Amino acid sequence: MRKLRIGLMQGFMAGNLVILLAFSMLSPHAQPHRFHRNFIQVRSEVLVIDRALNKINQPDDSPILAQPLIVKQWLNRQVLKNPSLILSVYHEIKEEERLLQETLINKPRVIDPNQPMIALTFDDGPRPSTEKVYAALKKHNVVATFFVIGMYVYGKSELLQRLVEQGNEIGNHSWSHLNFRDISHEEVVSQIVRTDAAIERAIGVKPRFVRPPMGLFDTNVRLAVGDRQIAMWSIDTLDWKHKNWGKTMDAIVGKVRDGDIILIHDLVDSTANNIEELIIYLKEEGYQLVTMSELVKYRSVQEKVVRFARP
Ligand SMILES: [Zn+2]
Repeated sequence: MRKLRIGLMQGFMAGNLVILLAFSMLSPHAQPHRFHRNFIQVRSEVLVIDRALNKINQPDDSPILAQPLIVKQWLNRQVLKNPSLILSVYHEIKEEERLLQETLINKPRVIDPNQPMIALTFDDGPRPSTEKVYAALKKHNVVATFFVIGMYVYGKSELLQRLVEQGNEIGNHSWSHLNFRDISHEEVVSQIVRTDAAIERAIGVKPRFVRPPMGLFDTNVRLAVGDRQIAMWSIDTLDWKHKNWGKTMDAIVGKVRDGDIILIHDLVDSTANNIEELIIYLKEEGYQLVTMSELVKYRSVQEKVVRFARP
């Protein structure tokens, strides 16, 4: 029971325990020492039960997820009232998850140029929160582009390598996020060249795209970028400003179109913590998630400044 008590101390709600106790009694695979598993396992099972609940009871779209305590209380009542329903949905979800994992494993990502695609672009990392974004992308076998700050790359080579291995792209977002229109041409060159070098040291290749801080550039910046393209965007979530996941989703849901480039920030906690919801939404809407390089390749975008890639 020691680990369970630690779990409780970490904020594990008493309501969850009641649910798990009830559930463990219902489960045909219940074992006498069910609660001697570790906290993470127990927690993930609570999440699955939450999802089962959402599947059964969807009075409207989202509020239920935003109110975990109400969800738990409702579930407590449902378990007592209708245990077999909860149990069957729980098993259905478990089976869906198993099939999803089976499908993803060993399946290389294939891009169909005739189907809708979008590029998710994460700016201002790599930060510790980038790990969460990496994990969510990996889980769903999708990719994105990370426009990194050169001075943050030190100590994060291994993370960048994992991102690239998984199919993501790394772009240049300056050395220290200065306004390129406020500094001299030499300083702009230095901001770009130092970041190129840091990225190349980490992953072995020079980034193909440059995104100036705040998207601000002039003729000097165009020259400094050389023969590369400047990566802008067509959907600005402003997540860095409001730090509100609901608002981030509002900027995208119902507005996203084929060929869009979405600007979002892996250093914003509300983004990193919830990114899976956006990935699921985009996939369900039929979008292929591609890197900047893939987007310009499949849509033959030649322009110096890339804002989107409509078919
Ligand atoms: Zn930025």
